[in-house]
Amino acid sequence: MTVKLQFFFADGRGKQAGDVMRPLVWTTPEKQPFVDKFKQRVTAAWERKHRLATTSTLPTITDVGVRFDLQTIIEGVDLEDHWEITVTKVDGFETSFVQCFFGNGSLDSLDIEPAAKGAPSGPQLPAAHEFGHMLGIRDEYLDKDGKPEDNPAHTGDLDSMMHTGSAVRARHYGNFAHWINEQFATAARLSGTDVEFKVNGTLSAKDAKP
Ligand SMILES: [Zn+2]
Repeated sequence: MTVKLQFFFADGRGKQAGDVMRPLVWTTPEKQPFVDKFKQRVTAAWERKHRLATTSTLPTITDVGVRFDLQTIIEGVDLEDHWEITVTKVDGFETSFVQCFFGNGSLDSLDIEPAAKGAPSGPQLPAAHEFGHMLGIRDEYLDKDGKPEDNPAHTGDLDSMMHTGSAVRARHYGNFAHWINEQFATAARLSGTDVEFKVNGTLSAKDAKP
């Protein structure tokens, strides 16, 4: 899966005690290493976590993995990007988000470092959680009032990447299974057979509800 990302960098202000309002300015040599680390860590977090497999004999290949090709540019002009990400330099916690409809997002300079969010299995890479939204997957955690932030179906799965942990679940690959099934839809119809790839050969995209 190819994802084209255009990065912009915004300067920030210090928030730590004794350092409040100190200008936090990106230097040019800091930008490419941030992007490189984003690519490396987000790719490692998401790719080849599950397989897409079908019992049909129609496709030549019946068991496939998912790999990511993150194509990035820094600033400049790119009319073909999928996502425009602005990264603000910070020295403490900030809320990050992506807006799927607009194809833009807001990250901060700490989002490529693991952060404790409360999951028993350990910290989460905030950039990897936000990348999950770029893949079309909804939040699974509860808000501060104890209500589902978005998807109410997995609020107990604290270790999930879309909750407070870092585990990519089979349901998070549901969109990939849906995509590959669309590629075979015509061939399946013409041959009168059913070609359904399922995540790990067991979870139907229809049941994944990511
Ligand atoms: Zn989220």
